[in-house]
Amino acid sequence: MSEFAIHIDSAFDSGNIEVRAIHGATATLAIRRDAHSDFFQWFHFRVSGAAGRELVLRITGLNAAAYPGGWEGYRACVSEDRDYWGRADTAWDPHTENGTLTITYSPESEICWFAYFAPYSMERHHDLIAQLAAEPGVIYRRLGQSLDGQPIDCLTMGDGPVQIWLQARQHPGESMAQWWMEGALDALTDPANPHGRLLREKATVHVVPNANPDGSRRGHLRTNAAGVNLNREWHDPRPDRSPEVLAIRNAMDETGVALCMDVHGDEAIPHVFIAGFEGIPGITQAQLASYHRYLAILDAQTPDFQTRAGYPIAPAGRGNLTMATNQIAERFGAVAMTLEMPFKDHNDLPCPDQGWSPERSAQLGRDCIAALAQWIMG
Ligand SMILES: [Zn+2]
Repeated sequence: MSEFAIHIDSAFDSGNIEVRAIHGATATLAIRRDAHSDFFQWFHFRVSGAAGRELVLRITGLNAAAYPGGWEGYRACVSEDRDYWGRADTAWDPHTENGTLTITYSPESEICWFAYFAPYSMERHHDLIAQLAAEPGVIYRRLGQSLDGQPIDCLTMGDGPVQIWLQARQHPGESMAQWWMEGALDALTDPANPHGRLLREKATVHVVPNANPDGSRRGHLRTNAAGVNLNREWHDPRPDRSPEVLAIRNAMDETGVALCMDVHGDEAIPHVFIAGFEGIPGITQAQLASYHRYLAILDAQTPDFQTRAGYPIAPAGRGNLTMATNQIAERFGAVAMTLEMPFKDHNDLPCPDQGWSPERSAQLGRDCIAALAQWIMG
C-alpha cells in the first residue's frame, strides 16, 4: 500500500506550504513568503493518507527564511486531533537545498497536521471574543478594521485608575502570543482568581488579543495584508498601510498607558524573556525601576521565566521608537515591555513531549496577571 502518494493541503485559516514534489510518503516542500514581503518562516499544513507509514517531509530553502537561527535545535509541531500538539523528530541541515528541515513522523491516523507552532485560528479568536464579551463587567470595543476588513477587537475590564494595556500577535506567526491571551483573560475574568479580582479593582485593563488578524488568517509570519511589519509602525501609523496600529494607538491616546505588555514569540532563543525600553530618550529612573520590579516579581512567580538570556539592551538614547514598547514607554512615560516566548522550548525547564506549548503559554499568561497584581500593589 505504501506506493500510494500522500496528499498535502493548506487552503485553510493560517495555512502555508508550497508542495514541490511528492513520492510515496516523502514530500519536498517550501514556505510561501508573506504577501508583498520577503519574510517567511511560518508553516501550517495537513497530510492525509499516511496512517501507519513513516512520513518524511523536507522543507527546503530555509537559509533565506526570516530567522535561519530558528531552525537549529527546532522540532516541528504535530497534531492528529487538532487539540494536543506534540513535537515530531526534526533534523536541520543548512547545506542541503539552501537549508532543509526534515521532519519524520509516523501517524496513527489517516490525517495529521503540522505547524511551526500550534496554530490559533481566527474562528477560535471570534469564539474567545464572543465568550469574553458576555462576561459580567467586560466591555467590548471594536477599535477599527484591518486592510482586509477584519475587526480590531478590544476587551476592557476593571474599575481602577491605573491603565494597563495587553496586546498580542502584531506578528501573526507568533501564535503562542494568543494562547498566552487565553490564560491571561481566564485569570482576569475567573471570579475565583484573586489576582484577576485584585487587578480589576486597582486597574482598568484593555486587552487586544489579536493586533494583526489579516496576517493571522493569511498564514503570514510577520506582516499584515500589505506586507507591513506592524511593530515598526508605532511612530507614524498610516490608514493605508498600518490601520491596525493606528486604531490601537488612538485608543491608547484616549486612556493613557501606565503599563503595556506586547506579547510575541522568538524564533531562535530557547527561553522565555522580556525586552524593555532602556534606549528611549525620555527614560526616567522611576520608570526603569518600576520595570525591573515587574521582572523580579515574574521571575519569582514562575520557573517558566528568566532574566539571563534575551536581546541585547539598547544603548542610552538609541531605542527604536517605531516599536510598540519603545513608543509607548516614551509617549506615555509608561512601563512597557515585549514578552517573548520560544518556538523551541524554555530550556530552563524543558518539556520533551511538547516543547513550548499552548498550555504553557496560557499558564504563563495567568502567571503574568498574578505578577501584575503584585506589581500594582507597589
Ligand atoms: Zn514578534
